[in-house]
Order: sequence, then structure tokens, then C-alpha cells
Amino acid sequence: MADCIFCKIASGEINAKVVYDDADVVAFLDLNPQAPTHALIVPRRHIDRLTAATEADAELLGKLQLAAAKVAKVLKVEGAFRLVTNNGKGAGQSVDHLHYHLLGGRKLLWPPG
Ligand code: AMP
Repeated sequence: MADCIFCKIASGEINAKVVYDDADVVAFLDLNPQAPTHALIVPRRHIDRLTAATEADAELLGKLQLAAAKVAKVLKVEGAFRLVTNNGKGAGQSVDHLHYHLLGGRKLLWPPG
């Protein structure tokens, strides 16, 4: 997608603090962290949001979760972290490219705000 900031990060056109990447997935630190550890895990292929994914994306969705677990290890929060996606503006989605927030490094309350 031409104007998608996360597509540009995935392609290397825009710099980010990349903490993990493979053929299908890129993970980088959030610019505005909400916890001591806050990374975003995104597919290289553009998908607007989770509800825009189809059966054809099933393998990619699995890879995103496995990548998230690797990112948690890389960032040394594998013992306690939260993985969340904001699907739609009402849920707080501000970037229309599927991404999972990985948050850790502090006590995480439930329910979230
Ligand atoms: P959401 O509000 O769920 O769509 O999450 C988007 C996240 O992307 C926010 O937490 C932003 O801080 C983060 N973000 C936006 N632009 C960048 C960027 N260029 N590099 C890293 N994180 C970003």
C-alpha cells in the first residue's frame, strides 16, 4: 500500500528500531511506548486489520503469533507480556495495517482501559 507507514517500515523505506524480522513478519519498537517494553508485530503483506484477513491469511496469522513469542524472548519479557490488536477506530486503531502490540516490563492490569 503506497501510503501505509507500516508497509514502509517493513520495506525499509522508513527507519524503525527493528527487533525481529523474517520473510513474512517484522517487529519494531513502538514510537510512543505504553510500557517499558512495547513492540509492534506486523505482517509484511498489507492487511488493514484482523477482520480484513481471510482464510488465505491463516498461515500468516499463525506466523505472527509465533513471531510474537520470539519477540518476547528477544526482549526478555517471555514470562509475562500482553499481545493485543486494536481492530477498528473505536478500539483505538490509528494505523490501518494489521499489527499486534506486545507490552511488558510492568504490571499489566485487567480489564484494560
Ligand atoms: P494503534 O493505535 O493500535 O493503531 O497502534 C499504532 C501504534 O503505532 C501506536 O502505538 C503508535 O505509537 C505506533 N506508531 C505509529 N507510527 C510509528 C512509527 N513510525 N514507528 C513506530 N511506531 C509507530
